[in-house]
Amino acid sequence: MNTSGLAEVLRPLPRQHRIRVASQLHRLQRICDSDQPREQFSYQLLATLQRLMGASTAAFWLCPPHGEPLELQARYEDEPDVSGASVDMAAEAILQSRWSQSGPSLELLDSHAAGVIVAPVHSGKEAIGALQWIFARPDPWQGMADQYLVGARRIVIAVEPALQHRFNSGAITWDAAAGQLEQLTTQLHHLQRLIRQTIEKSLRSMAGKSFADFKESQRFVKSIHALLESHGLRVRCPECGHPAILRCSRSSGSAGGGSFVFDHYIDGRRTFHGGGLTVPKVRVTTKPARRSSPAAAS
Ligand SMILES: [Zn+2]
Repeated sequence: MNTSGLAEVLRPLPRQHRIRVASQLHRLQRICDSDQPREQFSYQLLATLQRLMGASTAAFWLCPPHGEPLELQARYEDEPDVSGASVDMAAEAILQSRWSQSGPSLELLDSHAAGVIVAPVHSGKEAIGALQWIFARPDPWQGMADQYLVGARRIVIAVEPALQHRFNSGAITWDAAAGQLEQLTTQLHHLQRLIRQTIEKSLRSMAGKSFADFKESQRFVKSIHALLESHGLRVRCPECGHPAILRCSRSSGSAGGGSFVFDHYIDGRRTFHGGGLTVPKVRVTTKPARRSSPAAAS
């Protein structure tokens, strides 16, 4: 869920009850990531959106398969009947006329004693429904109309994927799928970078040390290789920068723990670099594409 900048936009909005915006945003994230049934999801989502915007009521409306008008899916009120029937009716009329616009809009109701925000929810380019906030108080925007609109827009961006996932289950457009895959790719890149950094940090803490026993050195390098292999990674040879496998060798006549070498193929030839007697400081890099077998290459 993309909540970047949301806290800064929402924090200054006036509210009847004090809330911690950051913890409500965490809650929002948990709700969107959960696999709760639709009803439970909707109730919790709207309760959180009501608090975040400081509204009296938050609701989600969905376009039925046979077309307009939108149907109310779920609604959360701070206190029961806080807005009153006439405000609710006026707010619905505005929702029905505004929901297919490209972005959120706000309007005063009932001789300025209340207001409504309608924020269309899309799947790809198609509007599938709308979020609605009702503010049952005079001068609802208090000179902050722009801030409310930015808040509503950012909230829609944050919760749209979760709403699409639950309420648009029948068909999926390539636009929606591509958007979701793009988000996934970004998340995975971030995680991969985090994995590489975590491994490097841990290995760095052992750099410069040596094992007394050759067998222990060998167990160490084999364990490192297994760990890196499971994440599609290699160590980067400090001498030439090629992806390599860290091995331990006794060949240099070294006593004790043996010497650490970087085993890699350069221009198709197996090459060893390094040879230090202590655990080298390594950087981690992506495993190269499988090289063709020597039989096929020759
Ligand atoms: Zn090298």
